[in-house]
Amino acid sequence: MTTVAYIGLGSNLDNPRQQVEQALQELAQIPETSLVSASPWYQSRAVGPGEQQDYINGVAQLTTGLAPHDLLDQLQAIEHAHERVREIRWGPRTLDLDLLLYGSEIIDTERLQVPHPYLTQRNFVLYPLTDIAPQLILPCGDTLESLMAHCSSDGLHQLKD
Ligand code: AMP
Repeated sequence: MTTVAYIGLGSNLDNPRQQVEQALQELAQIPETSLVSASPWYQSRAVGPGEQQDYINGVAQLTTGLAPHDLLDQLQAIEHAHERVREIRWGPRTLDLDLLLYGSEIIDTERLQVPHPYLTQRNFVLYPLTDIAPQLILPCGDTLESLMAHCSSDGLHQLKD
């Protein structure tokens, strides 16, 4: 049995566009997992301390036979391979991979909260998610469309190439 999962990708260090493009290829290599689609890339203003470079963000849709925590292990292994810098919370990072949604499951463990807590609040998640899954309904019953109706595109723009 496979489950549809959505992954948020983000980078604002060491050639961010290349980091996220490469991460997409690595998502496709995860065992028991296929990359179904990927959103356009977006450039977004950094949220967090100090002067930071803009982020490149996007969302990928996967199908996976892995259990949620096993999928998280795989995402973290990819992050580590990108030599992620994690000294400051919300500080710059070479690669951030978030498990946004795993089917219609609600998961709340120490290591993993799904839907991802920022999913409903961040335009750099909601816009690319809408590009690839406009009809999506979250486990709580909210439609993506209704969340988008209240979501500003402030600081965000889609890259055209
Ligand atoms: P951050 O550096 O802010 O992306 O947070 C990474 C931490 O968030 C890791 O320790 C994960 O175990 C935890 N985490 C909780 N829920 C999720 C999720 N849905 N996707 C990715 N990481 C998560």
